[in-house]
Amino acid sequence: MLLDPQKIRYLVVHCSDTDADLTATDIHAMHLGFGWHGIGYHAVICQDGTLEPGRPHYWVGAHVYDHNEESLGVCLIGRESFADAQMATLENLLRDWHARYPRAKICGHCDFDNTEKTCPNFDVAAWCVARGITP
Ligand SMILES: [Zn+2]
Repeated sequence: MLLDPQKIRYLVVHCSDTDADLTATDIHAMHLGFGWHGIGYHAVICQDGTLEPGRPHYWVGAHVYDHNEESLGVCLIGRESFADAQMATLENLLRDWHARYPRAKICGHCDFDNTEKTCPNFDVAAWCVARGITP
C-alpha cells in the first residue's frame, strides 16, 4: 500500500526488545514469519550505530496499530539501554525525517493510547528536547 508523504503525522521510535544484536535482515525474516509483507519498519539502527533501511517511505509500514498510514517507524536494536552510537544515528535520522516531513511529530510507540507496549523504553519527547530537536 502506498504511503502518502503528505499524510505523515508521526515519526515513531521503537526498540526490538531483544538482547541480541540484530540486523534489518533479521527483522525482515522475523516479520515475514508473522505473515507480514516483510520488515514493518522504515529503518533499523543496529547496536554499533549502523543505519539500515527497511521499507521505503512510499510503502505503508507495519509498526503502530491504527496509525501505519500516517507514520514512519524506526527500530533501535536493544531493550532499554542503547549505545551512544545508536542514539547519535537516531538523532541524525530524526533530523533528516523532520526536515522531509516538517509537520510530523516525533514520538515513541508507547505514546499511543492504543498500545500496552512500553517500547522504546525511554521518553522520546524528553530525549528530543535534550538534543535540541522539537518533537
Ligand atoms: Zn514498538
